[in-house]
Amino acid sequence: MQMYSESDVDISCLADSQITILGYGSQGRAHALNLKDSGFNVVVGLRKSGASWAKAEADGLAVMEPNESVKTAKIVMFLTPDMVQKSLYESVVDDIDNGATLMFAHGFAVHYKQIEARSDLNVALIAPKGPGGLVRRQYEEGHGVPCLVAVHQDASGDALKIALAYSAGIGGARAGVIETTFAEETETDLFGEQAVLCGGATELIVAGFETLVEAGYQPEVAYYEVMHDMISGPRVVDESSRAAMKDILADIQDGTFAKNWIAENADGMPEFKRRMQADLDHPIEKVGTDLRSRMDWLED
Ligand code: NAD
Ligand code: MG
Repeated sequence: MQMYSESDVDISCLADSQITILGYGSQGRAHALNLKDSGFNVVVGLRKSGASWAKAEADGLAVMEPNESVKTAKIVMFLTPDMVQKSLYESVVDDIDNGATLMFAHGFAVHYKQIEARSDLNVALIAPKGPGGLVRRQYEEGHGVPCLVAVHQDASGDALKIALAYSAGIGGARAGVIETTFAEETETDLFGEQAVLCGGATELIVAGFETLVEAGYQPEVAYYEVMHDMISGPRVVDESSRAAMKDILADIQDGTFAKNWIAENADGMPEFKRRMQADLDHPIEKVGTDLRSRMDWLED
């Protein structure tokens, strides 16, 4: 394993260079503000019609339309949802300067060949292993969120150096930056989300809730309990769960998951919306909405 820390990074390769951040959501806001506070020249690229424009301006950042924002950028970081990165790249590619570095915080679009970058461009990845809010908060407190770094295309010969300088700018190098590949980052990140975070964990909570309610316990009591841990270990997560995880991983590795997810997005996400509605209609959400409304210390 190769891990880099601040002492391995030379940020002078980005001195006087413009870094453009496309998108101003969870990651975009954190990266843009951290880089600015680190002394870099940051521009945010957004659609004028979008809701984030005013927010980025209010945060004191220079904001431009995507095409304008990339023209003089040495780094163009894609922090829009993964599913719009292909069309965004296609719409700005002719404005990107020769020899610039395209960067990503997740390898999906590159690994599944949604984006096949111009040969004069570097393509690199700095993926913080935490949500944007944490990336910002840790930075402000003088710490950082660990990152992964990878280089997919090294046109200039110093793509790794540039990516590491970026990671220092967002605070990641304070916590350690582990070298990986686009394939490893993309496949493990999707697996974590699909099989564990959004798939397994939520299903486990819902199954626990239903088991208690079906056995006659009050839904309110069941709600509190399943939010705590449910560690009956191997009786819950057994060999069949491991076999299912291997199936999920195989779909991610051979591109089946990506193909289906891209098609689902192209169709307007019918299955995603159906599942989302089913989740919202589930009794655990009704009970949860009521109980959470009494916790006035929760943020909106
Ligand atoms: P997000 O949904 O929070 O924000 C997306 C932003 O993109 C918004 O500002 C939106 O207005 C903007 N946008 C959408 N379409 C656009 C377009 N066509 N042109 C310009 N701007 C557009 O996204 P996020 O969660 O910050 O994810 C961004 C990237 O970071 C993704 O590649 C994601 O996989 C990766 N990532 C996310 C996390 C996380 O915890 N959220 C962690 C690591 C990596
Ligand atoms: Mg992810």
